[in-house]
Amino acid sequence: MTEHELRREMVHIGASLFARGYATGSAGNLSLLLPDGNVLATPTGSCLGELQEDSLSVVTPQGEWISGNKPSKEVSFHRAVYQNKPECKAIVHLHSHYLTALSCLQGLDTQNCIRPFTPYVVMRIGDVPLVPYYRPGDARIATDLARLAPHYNAFLLANHGPVVTGSSLREATNNTEELEETARLIFTLSPREIRYLTPDEVKELR
Ligand SMILES: [Zn+2]
Repeated sequence: MTEHELRREMVHIGASLFARGYATGSAGNLSLLLPDGNVLATPTGSCLGELQEDSLSVVTPQGEWISGNKPSKEVSFHRAVYQNKPECKAIVHLHSHYLTALSCLQGLDTQNCIRPFTPYVVMRIGDVPLVPYYRPGDARIATDLARLAPHYNAFLLANHGPVVTGSSLREATNNTEELEETARLIFTLSPREIRYLTPDEVKELR
């Protein structure tokens, strides 16, 4: 896709996520890698429902702001993922309702917050590790994501929300929606007993 098409897609996907309640207010941010290697990202304080193609932020892989409106400070952790996961071309970070609720629970398995009970999370995303709680903007969010990025496709920031990668913004968005719906199912089923997929059933899917 050309830069123009990528900008248009980011505006379109932001509006779609906002219209369907995956994003509210000015929470959450999207980014993608442009053909020249720079990062196109949603500006600080912007509402995903009201993005404009011409005011999207462009930063270099090193984090230098080169055009558009000022980027969100959360773009620093997007860059950490890109630098450590070459196949990642786009990132969705939301404060979506059910995944954020899940991120606030005590006793999560830090290696994988979403124990498999449906096939698609296993097939499309894999394990989702927990990044410990840090104050928004803390550099350790980027440090931890940089360490985890080579091994995982999605991450849950404790008491904050999901960070999901993809080979395109569309794929990262689809993966985020799959995870959000899975988190919703966890709360729908809870505290009923779930029949988890057996280790053999998970192996067959991988
Ligand atoms: Zn956030």
